[in-house]
Amino acid sequence: MYDVKSSKAEEFISDEEILDTLDYAEKNKSNKELIEALLQKAASLKGLTHREAAVLLDCDLPEENEKMYRLAEQIKKDFYGNRIVMFAPLYLSNYCVNGCTYCPYHYKNKHICRKKLTQDEIRREVIALQDMGHKRLALETGEDPVNNPIEYVLESIKTIYSIKHKNGAIRRVNVNIAATTVENYRKLKEAGIGTYILFQETYNKKAYEQLHPTGPKSNYAYHTEAMDRAMDGGIDDVGCGVLFGLNLYRYDFVGLLMHAEHLEAAKGVGPHTISVPRIRPADDINPDEFENGINDDIFAKIVAVLRIAVPYTGIIISTRETQKTRERVLHLGVSQISGGSRTSVGGYCEEEEEDSAQFEVSDTRTLDQVVNWLLGMGYIPSFCTACYREGRTGDRFMRLVKSGQIANCCQPNALMTLKEYLEDYASPDTKEKGLKLIQSEIPKIPSEKVRQVVLKHLNEMENGMRDFRF
Ligand code: SF4
Ligand code: SF4
Repeated sequence: MYDVKSSKAEEFISDEEILDTLDYAEKNKSNKELIEALLQKAASLKGLTHREAAVLLDCDLPEENEKMYRLAEQIKKDFYGNRIVMFAPLYLSNYCVNGCTYCPYHYKNKHICRKKLTQDEIRREVIALQDMGHKRLALETGEDPVNNPIEYVLESIKTIYSIKHKNGAIRRVNVNIAATTVENYRKLKEAGIGTYILFQETYNKKAYEQLHPTGPKSNYAYHTEAMDRAMDGGIDDVGCGVLFGLNLYRYDFVGLLMHAEHLEAAKGVGPHTISVPRIRPADDINPDEFENGINDDIFAKIVAVLRIAVPYTGIIISTRETQKTRERVLHLGVSQISGGSRTSVGGYCEEEEEDSAQFEVSDTRTLDQVVNWLLGMGYIPSFCTACYREGRTGDRFMRLVKSGQIANCCQPNALMTLKEYLEDYASPDTKEKGLKLIQSEIPKIPSEKVRQVVLKHLNEMENGMRDFRF
């Protein structure tokens, strides 16, 4: 029985409700009147239910689809302007006791090089990331209570925050570790993490159990209820996602939105971010064996409909995607991207060993090249990490976002953190482009007072001062 507020996975992600929703969407995919009404509702920025969003995803009327893309672009502009927040993943360990069939870190893979970073190695990786200009990391580690216990993750977070190399600093550590207990989530919260990220992979229980035949992750309910426990442990900001390609995308799209609705209904705040990874080749993994792969058009439509359905939730895309795909979905709704990523353990200091990466990176450019590319398209690459440092998390953050007030922080913070990047890390060409963009963006700051403060801080940065924020 579907119950959005239930604490049980199979009730808030009800298979029956998803199948009914898919049936409803199929029946209405050419229902122009309904689709127009949904687009009108979405234009008021109130978001859409999973049923409504499913109809838009299935819509087969070309002119309505065009309107949908235009609306997604408009919402993106209204809420996120031309800012794109930058981050990088940091792999701590690829020891894993799980048997996920789509990931080369599964325990049966005997020829992958297993590695766990020592605190000294973490220091070196973090310095390499700081020297690129990164300020925001997503920690990744396999699940292994012996090799990667929670104490190891906590110690690593402490190490990362403690490193101040030249003008560098990691100011926000997001964490992507396996589903765990309320007590461990509390410890992560106390360690000062930003977002707790956990991908559901697929919401279809049967498919989930086939894809996760062994290990603690095989427990569908425990995994699906992890965000509830994270919030019970005091973590306000959680990041959801599915791995598109594992199961039928329509099913997982609906499940993802039902999960967001559940968190909002049961915990008072929906997910902070949604990630949209697609399955990629890797050692021991052939994506052709997964028959549910989605093409670029469907991928773009998923991003657009998510933007419309959950306008207040950040959308993240990684370097799994090519430059071309990333370019296509940036203006449709993506608000955060990684750049210069290495997906192997120790990959920022050492040449990546081909067989130790979690997946193949499609966008292999350096961070400077990615920043340069974004500037060339008129985007402001932002290294901002201000909100959680200012205590703007959870429902406090959502209130600011929903009222539109957050833009008064995001825009100046984007300009100031970009300036830091340009001063400390950019190539001459990137610096020139970036400074020009900052000049053209300053007059767009609506408040005269804020504008003056930003100008003052931009000058101070030229004299060596750093880390200003609103
Ligand atoms: Fe382990 Fe995560 Fe890979 Fe599964 S997806 S094998 S849990 S690292
Ligand atoms: Fe993100 Fe807050 Fe910075 Fe805006 S001000 S970019 S919401 S951290």
